[in-house]
Amino acid sequence: MSETKRRIPVLDLRPDIDKHWDELLEAIQGVLRSGQFILGPNVEAFEEEVAASLGVKHAVGVNSGTDALVISLRGLGIGPGDDVITTPFTFFATPESISNVGATPVFVDIDPGTFNLDPALIEPAITRRTKAILPVHLYGHACAMGPIMDIATRNGLKVIEDVAQAMGGTVDGKPLGTLGDAGALSFFPSKNLGGFGDGGMIVTDDDALSEEARRLRAHGSKRSYANDALGYNSRLDELQAALLRVKLRHLDRSNENRRRAAAGYNSALRGVSGLTIPVEEPWARHVYHQYTVRILEGRRDELQTELARYGVSSKVYYPVPCHELQVYRSKYGSLPVAEAAAQEVLSLPIGPTLTTADLDRVVDGLISARNEQRVPIEFPPGGSI
Ligand SMILES: *Cc1c(COP(=O)(O)O)cnc(C)c1O
Repeated sequence: MSETKRRIPVLDLRPDIDKHWDELLEAIQGVLRSGQFILGPNVEAFEEEVAASLGVKHAVGVNSGTDALVISLRGLGIGPGDDVITTPFTFFATPESISNVGATPVFVDIDPGTFNLDPALIEPAITRRTKAILPVHLYGHACAMGPIMDIATRNGLKVIEDVAQAMGGTVDGKPLGTLGDAGALSFFPSKNLGGFGDGGMIVTDDDALSEEARRLRAHGSKRSYANDALGYNSRLDELQAALLRVKLRHLDRSNENRRRAAAGYNSALRGVSGLTIPVEEPWARHVYHQYTVRILEGRRDELQTELARYGVSSKVYYPVPCHELQVYRSKYGSLPVAEAAAQEVLSLPIGPTLTTADLDRVVDGLISARNEQRVPIEFPPGGSI
């Protein structure tokens, strides 16, 4: 294959922006004309629309997914002296949020199939100090929320879901973010519901948490100049909210396109030796924030280079599990499943606008390096990319 072809990025944001160009432009113009730029009518409407789409009582817009985690934790009363059980195989923002509220992340190992918290390891890690569980729905696949919620209920623990990578995903048909006490959403541009800058949201059925989150996002004050707690400047912008309202209308379709691309990959990669395709549990709707394969036999880095020769970008999320990062190293023992995953995972190009030609080139790149028989990509009936 020619090396002069367009490079396929892991995620290409532009085609999706082009697709909705007029609607997005109209949203921007509306905000510019309104003269209101922070926590205005678009933020309010967006909060209501997200709450309605997920079926929760409250949605509170904040500055980022990280702030959504921090404010959820603080709003649920978690702080110094408390332990929070979470996964080591996540973006650093997850344990960082726990540490930044003064609590301590307790890492437990993951399930090798879904890369998510292994529920069987949670209960043995619970001590008197444990106050909450923070499951992360990694790559768009739900954690085993049934067992996790059972453990939380039995032990009187709060559950904060990190939904940064899984907006639109479900477990047993229920939207992620609505199963625990709080769900933290991120609108970082690359996320499934991506904005045009930073943004995040807390979703909850808990009236008290919603009220506390509204106070904390605005310097700890319910009314102007009545600052009765130390909070944050973590408000959502009108421009982001107006643009995200447009994107929210297309989220389902966009997630379906990701699922379709994933099914296309699966059809061609299933059965290829030395590689495992993503697991989708029967109880989950995977929204493929990432399409992540495992490359076995220590050949991951070599294959990544080979793909690059084909003009195909790929990424490793995450090369170092959090318990081995500088900040946390030395405080934790070995977590072998997460450590093995960090050596083997490779995320391939995925997104709502990936073409069949793109998929073909990625598969060609993967297969050529292994001298395997190439089978054609097949899509499930209906729809189109
Ligand atoms: C992106 C991400 C976050 C942080 O979200 P920001 O909006 O970038 O602050 C937290 N957790 C996970 C798993 C993420 O992927």
